[in-house]
Amino acid sequence: MEFRYLGRSGLKISEITYGNWLTHGSQIENETAQACVRSALDAGITTFDTADVYANTKAESVLGDALSGERRESLEIFTKVYWPTGPKGHNDSGLSRKHILESINGSLKRLRTDYVDLYQAHRFDTETPLEETMRAFADVVRQGKALYIGVSEWTADQIREGVALARELGIQLISSQPEYSMLWRAIEEEVAPASEELGVSQIVWSPMAQGVLSGKYAPDTAPPEGSRAATEVTKGAIARFMTPEILTRVQGLRPLAEEAGLTMPQLAIAWVLQNDNVASALVGASRPEQVTDNVKAAGITLEPALMASIDEVLGDVVERDPARTAERAPKQRPS
Ligand code: NDP
Repeated sequence: MEFRYLGRSGLKISEITYGNWLTHGSQIENETAQACVRSALDAGITTFDTADVYANTKAESVLGDALSGERRESLEIFTKVYWPTGPKGHNDSGLSRKHILESINGSLKRLRTDYVDLYQAHRFDTETPLEETMRAFADVVRQGKALYIGVSEWTADQIREGVALARELGIQLISSQPEYSMLWRAIEEEVAPASEELGVSQIVWSPMAQGVLSGKYAPDTAPPEGSRAATEVTKGAIARFMTPEILTRVQGLRPLAEEAGLTMPQLAIAWVLQNDNVASALVGASRPEQVTDNVKAAGITLEPALMASIDEVLGDVVERDPARTAERAPKQRPS
């Protein structure tokens, strides 16, 4: 495994982070979840990402159980706050002081740890003054419950403002967690350059476009049994990529992967890691063998000619509009 610094900080994280959205506490049985975490640890992954909202808090519990017994200092554990949890009452979501200070306690309990390495704002809260949010995060850090602060799907301007407030408060906002893959490049024009300048790294989610870039979904063919696109509770999330045009273009990547001596999942993950502002590819798995395949993407360099061929094959199915980031924050705090 290779490691990279997270933002302008002294924290090193593994180039591949294991994430448990849609899987733990939901799509897969606990036993399989434990086996996936085991294979991540065995492959050298030290960084684990979850959120209070995943499986309405169950994902944190499953991960906490799977990591209990491991040496805490050898791990980086990340979680998030914003989306509604529990009974989804009027203060059970967002980035108010009340919700942040309450939510961190629940997360720590479920994760069976005294602190998380990174506490992330899962979205920008348009209803809470940013100063209130950052003060609450600063208190979480001062209480020793989180070491660093991060954000997810914030625009360049929001990150800039957050970093300025964090500096005033003496805490470190060092990461941004956006979607980024060969198919979804909305951060390249604004978020990544601003982050670079501010000393913030990207930890990128769905680098495989939820499995689509593994090439296992052929156009006009039923998705493989048990896959995300074939599973009732998860197929809605992946639907936007399941168009004949995207699936056909993705099949065109197969010869490029073969020529490079990589599997398609490895090519997809290595691709996001070519961006210097990316600290880690945040990868999911429904089976332990997937983790073993995916980690081999760490440390791989893709030649410029291969990068250009990928762009040629994918053509105009690639999303590049920076405005897509702003669309990710709900206009009103969800309940
Ligand atoms: P990926 O793009 O890595 O998709 C993972 C899924 O692809 C797996 O669950 C599996 O699904 C399939 N897959 C994985 N490896 C292989 C393989 N080798 N061969 C074939 N199929 C494979 O990422 P996710 O969409 O799961 O997101 C990763 C993480 O990012 C999440 O767990 C979460 O931590 C974070 N995230 C953050 C968000 C945010 O708002 N901040 C939003 C979404 C995710 P299957 O086998 O079921 O088909």
